Amino acid sequence: MRLILLGPPGAGKGTQAERLMKKHGIPQLSTGDMLRAAVKAGTPVGLKAKALMDAGSLVPDDVVVGIIADRLNEDDAHNGFILDGFPRTVAQAEALDKMLAQKDMALDGIVELKVDETALLARIEKRARETVAAGGTVRADDNAEAFKKRLQDYRAMTAPVSAYYASHGALKAVDGMAAIDSVSQAIDEALSAKA
Ligand code: AMP
Repeated sequence: MRLILLGPPGAGKGTQAERLMKKHGIPQLSTGDMLRAAVKAGTPVGLKAKALMDAGSLVPDDVVVGIIADRLNEDDAHNGFILDGFPRTVAQAEALDKMLAQKDMALDGIVELKVDETALLARIEKRARETVAAGGTVRADDNAEAFKKRLQDYRAMTAPVSAYYASHGALKAVDGMAAIDSVSQAIDEALSAKA
């Protein structure tokens, strides 16, 4: 199964992607996680991405498209994957279409988590508090200022990605404000409705 999870920062994409990964035995491909790993490892990509990520800005399309192209070539992605945080621009969505066409692969589902934007900052702040309580390190972009920029970019650059997939007739919307289990169930239903 090849899936895309769309939705603004704090919508719960990562949480749902993890659940789908366990349920379907396919990897979660999070460009945010891959970029954070590159920053930590100090790779050339990481060095290029760090300041942009810390400020809540998007990393250039060619960088993330390159990361995904490499990742899709790995063995574990052959049976399916869940894209979390990619594509974030229409150019990325078009690049993904080309990559998949070259591999003779099609997407099985594109699910958008719909959320009330006024609740998102509180969710991000809660995630930061929980991370601290668990002894972890808070993401450099989980703060009010970077969040504002992330939301602005989401509206300007990523919302059109939903329109792009809706125009291809493949987009399913799910209420992301519901409890985590209910959201998972709604995603399952949306995916099986397609089959
Ligand atoms: P995330 O973990 O998905 O919230 O991503 C964290 C940050 O990584 C974003 O705010 C961007 O700076 C960068 N990033 C992740 N995915 C992408 C993408 N598809 N396009 C551009 N930048 C991205």
